[in-house]
Amino acid sequence: MATEKAPKAVEVICPGCGSAGARAVPEVCDDQSCMRAGLADRLARTPGVSSRFDGCLHFVEGMVMVAVGVALAYSGIDNDKPLYTIGGSLLAVLLFVGTVVVVRGEGRDRALVAAGEPRADALWRSAYNCPACESVFCPGGGPWQGLLTPEQFKKFVWTEAGYGKQLEERFKDVDLPPGILTGPGGERDHA
Ligand SMILES: [Zn+2]
Repeated sequence: MATEKAPKAVEVICPGCGSAGARAVPEVCDDQSCMRAGLADRLARTPGVSSRFDGCLHFVEGMVMVAVGVALAYSGIDNDKPLYTIGGSLLAVLLFVGTVVVVRGEGRDRALVAAGEPRADALWRSAYNCPACESVFCPGGGPWQGLLTPEQFKKFVWTEAGYGKQLEERFKDVDLPPGILTGPGGERDHA
């Protein structure tokens, strides 16, 4: 992975404030100190979706809770306590439905992110972040143009990749500058 084509030796000048020392976004996101400072999250390429393993785990957890409901229902039958039976059965049904909904939703999110990843990667990998003014930009004017804040950048990448709906609430009000949107297969200013 060290053989990426990022030109590390070349100094990138920020078009916003003119300072040198902008760093490639993938590099920033790998940096532990940027992770702690939350910058890596503000520049994240994709949502942190749960893995397939997590999905299985959530299913198992859900089924364990369903089993508790079933056990409660059975104890109601054994001890002649109809309230336990009704309550336990309801609990088991609700937990079962809830688990299926959650696990299926996670699977859909995973598929969505996987489908948009190449697009997100193309826009994200070429970007640089200026530590002085926090701007994000592409040196050389592509694959997108302009100067964005980390929030705008994340919204741009995620929206373009088709998982803008998974952005956190605070991104809803972030406006993107006109003209930057290239859209999947949409208009693109050719340099
Ligand atoms: Zn700058």
